[in-house]
Amino acid sequence: MGEKTVPELARDTLKQLVIRKLAPTPANYEAIFNEIGGLKTESSFPAEQLRKIAQDLPAKTPGQQKQRSLMEYAISQLNWEGVHNALVAYGSFAPKPENSGFSPLTSTSEVAPLAHAPIPPSSTAAPALTADFLEQIARLIEFARPALGSDDARFTEQTQEMLRIMRQPGVDLVQVKQMLSTFGHRVSFAAEDQAEIKSTLLHLLRLILENIGELSVDDRWLKGQVDALMGAATPPLTLRRLDDVERRLRDVMLKQAEAKGRAVEAQKEMRLMLGAFVERLSVITDSTSVYGGKMEEHAKLIEQATSLEELAPVLKEVVSATRSMAHDTLEARNELRNMKDRAEATEAEIVKLHMELDRVSAQARHDPLTGALNRKGLDEALNREVATMRRKETPLCMALLDIDNFKKINDTLGHSTGDQALAHLAQVARECMRPQDTLARYGGEEFVLMLPDTPLEKGIEAMTRLQRELTKRFFLAGAEKILITFSAGVAQVGVDEDGAAAIKRADQAMYMAKRAGKNRVLGA
Ligand code: GH3
Ligand code: MG
Ligand code: MG
Repeated sequence: MGEKTVPELARDTLKQLVIRKLAPTPANYEAIFNEIGGLKTESSFPAEQLRKIAQDLPAKTPGQQKQRSLMEYAISQLNWEGVHNALVAYGSFAPKPENSGFSPLTSTSEVAPLAHAPIPPSSTAAPALTADFLEQIARLIEFARPALGSDDARFTEQTQEMLRIMRQPGVDLVQVKQMLSTFGHRVSFAAEDQAEIKSTLLHLLRLILENIGELSVDDRWLKGQVDALMGAATPPLTLRRLDDVERRLRDVMLKQAEAKGRAVEAQKEMRLMLGAFVERLSVITDSTSVYGGKMEEHAKLIEQATSLEELAPVLKEVVSATRSMAHDTLEARNELRNMKDRAEATEAEIVKLHMELDRVSAQARHDPLTGALNRKGLDEALNREVATMRRKETPLCMALLDIDNFKKINDTLGHSTGDQALAHLAQVARECMRPQDTLARYGGEEFVLMLPDTPLEKGIEAMTRLQRELTKRFFLAGAEKILITFSAGVAQVGVDEDGAAAIKRADQAMYMAKRAGKNRVLGA
């Protein structure tokens, strides 16, 4: 068969259009022309039609809006794949189901197919995929369930029942969908409840802390601890912060118990002494008034006496009364001296108790000057963080910083300004660290920072950020601006390394930073 010429092809194409009752559009003409001529049909891109579909697609959620825009963009680019992807993704952004579990939107025939994930073409793949998918949802529910509390037994039962059904072979998907929808509603209520419970508990905790703060106005250590507690009990809460709250509370309770015991004892002792003193005073007053009365009598007798014989017994009386008065006074003096000795002993006891309390405070986990953990607190936190690191297989960094030329600050501005500089550094460090990071005072002007979920390079970055922050936030000594710099070493805790060994490596790196000219951060 010979090849047709173009005019013949054109004539035959028009004939076919009429025979097949097709509209004489350029697209139809082109398709039939290619068919008759045996040419490859380059299917033209139905931009107009697609654009119309895109316009009619509901855009009720931000996800739907985005996918519709992507589809419009793909149409403008004549990009079939883009259109396909946007439509498939659009399906996963259907609005949340209403009470019935089926939203009116998804039940309309127009958009229903888009609201479902694409069904795999192979009929054997579908059930396996569904079972796998349902198992994933079931596991997700199991993991998330404890976060919703366990007070509602009915909810727990229903959840168990749903999980059982989801795991059955040949499960009815419509039933699962309905159950999931009901479950979704209960979850939203339970989650609201949990959030409410959390915020109420937090509020109560702050109230209690405020109350403790009011009770301890004249104890600076306690006041400092309570302020730190209030800070720690501020959202957003993390487990680490709650742990910090717990440890601080224990310290506060310990100190309060000691302080109360001391006050009760001192009060008892003082009451006893006051009682004795009052008794003694009344004895003295009694004897002096008796003495005074007698003296008056004697004075009268002496005035009236006309002879020495008459005076002699009176004088005898006077001498005897004076002697007994002197005796009483001596006794009173002895007793008072005794009481003074006892008061001094009580005072010494109180001083001893004070020293004991200071020792207890030193044993507490926080450094009173900077509010950072002390060595004991650091040891405990370190054990915990290293254990978490091993369990979760996440990186943990230890950084050690030493303030540069700190002696100079002390020498030029005095020790107490030096103290304030330390508190300033701790404050800036706390503010620019993440809530899960921990600050500890390692020595005089050396601090350790514990940075969980942090690999070495991020740890170095964090310390460099703290350096920058310190150059922005001067320490003010009166009106004078003092720039505090530090040298630091950072070590990532090795898989089999203990925390102390990592701090030692960080210390060596810090030492190298000092030798390299200070004011820098080096990795170990
Ligand atoms: P470098 O840059 O080499 O670290 O020099 P530096 O002056 O900081 O020297 P060094 O680390 O040897 O000395 C630290 C000084 O910090 C010595 C000590 O008097 C002082 N210091 C330690 N603890 C405290 C404190 O609690 N308060 C005050 N004000 N000073 C402290
Ligand atoms: Mg030092
Ligand atoms: Mg130093």
